[in-house]
Amino acid sequence: MHELTIAQNIISIAEEEVAKQSDSGTVKKIFFKAGKMHAIIPESLQFGFKVLKKESKIVNNATLEIDEIPLRIKCKKCGLEKNIDEPLFYCSKCNSFDIEIISGMDMFVESIEFEDEKCEEGEVGV
Ligand SMILES: [Zn+2]
Repeated sequence: MHELTIAQNIISIAEEEVAKQSDSGTVKKIFFKAGKMHAIIPESLQFGFKVLKKESKIVNNATLEIDEIPLRIKCKKCGLEKNIDEPLFYCSKCNSFDIEIISGMDMFVESIEFEDEKCEEGEVGV
């Protein structure tokens, strides 16, 4: 189940980001972009995240926002661009197989929202 591995990676990235900020903040929300090419099942990813986040104090209360990037191809011959639902890489206009994938190949953590109110309060008067 590769969603579990991805969930673990997302948590690691969030923890690293918090460490970089050098305060004891916690993560509120993680925005994750999933290229359709990776065929991630959002429900499985959410489940994996829910299970694994319990072991981390930093992401314990965080929610995961998954946004799918559509698979988009461009024909190098006639220039046709379109979104496709299945990985069938040929041009429906000129039947060429000379296809370039424009988007849908990546998956990454786009941004992380921190729960930092608590830290700021704690820092008052230091
Ligand atoms: Zn074409």
